[in-house]
Amino acid sequence: MPASASIAARDTSITWGFQTEPEPYLDDRSIDEIRGRVLGGSSSVNGMVANRGNPRDYDGWADQGLPDWSFAHCLPYFRKMETFDRGEDPWRGGNGPQHIETCPADNPLDQAFVAAGQEAGYPYTEDQNGRQHEGFHIAQRFTHNGKRWSTADGYLKPVLSRANLTLQTQTQVHRVVFDGKRAVGVEIGHQGAVETIEAEREVILCGGGDQLATGAPAVWRG
Ligand SMILES: Cc1cc2nc3c(=O)[nH]c(=O)nc-3n(C[C@H](O)[C@H](O)[C@H](O)COP(=O)(O)OP(=O)(O)OC[C@H]3O[C@@H](n4cnc5c(N)ncnc54)[C@H](O)[C@@H]3O)c2cc1C
Repeated sequence: MPASASIAARDTSITWGFQTEPEPYLDDRSIDEIRGRVLGGSSSVNGMVANRGNPRDYDGWADQGLPDWSFAHCLPYFRKMETFDRGEDPWRGGNGPQHIETCPADNPLDQAFVAAGQEAGYPYTEDQNGRQHEGFHIAQRFTHNGKRWSTADGYLKPVLSRANLTLQTQTQVHRVVFDGKRAVGVEIGHQGAVETIEAEREVILCGGGDQLATGAPAVWRG
């Protein structure tokens, strides 16, 4: 039920509790800048709406000099990441770690809303993540059997038993440690102690795109 997702989003035991500076164009109000602080990151506290965005936006980024962001280049990754409940087709994936379900929308008002959009002259699309993005539609969500399906559910939990994976929670990365221009480890704080974890191979930074904190590197030792 996405409407109640805001309960998780405002729970500062599982979010960072960031706030913006007073915004001059919002009567100096500070705005919540919510980011998840829990396994799965923000995917564990977000609104679960599965919407890739308009392909023309991706192509616009490619036109502006980022060819890897063209929709044609991204599409195989979108397909690879998902298991769509209505099955695989040229746009959708059927065997990926991230489950996506179509909302039941079984209240008569849901159908009336979609019909009203069409009456008003807007297009209807059967799958906004498929051939046609634009149009009134029944939303899709990141759930599996009706329950939130975070990136931790999809990518992390299934491989937790791997011998070369250690998951350490209650741990904040303070900085990436460098030897010259090469990242060689991370400095972490854990239960009041500060220690450095050295990388044998590489440090992968995945702390969230618009995150104010240092970031959450994964250290690849083996
Ligand atoms: C309230 C809300 C609603 C949203 N609704 C939707 C939606 O409906 N549909 C949608 O597609 N997207 C939605 N989003 C956006 C989506 O959830 C994010 O874009 C996505 O989860 C970002 O993934 P990420 O891996 O880049 O970062 P995150 O998911 O934020 O993961 C970063 C992780 O790094 C950890 N971390 C950061 N700094 C440190 C540090 N120094 N040490 C240790 N760990 C650290 C964080 O705690 C977190 O676990 C929403 C986001 C929010 C906050």
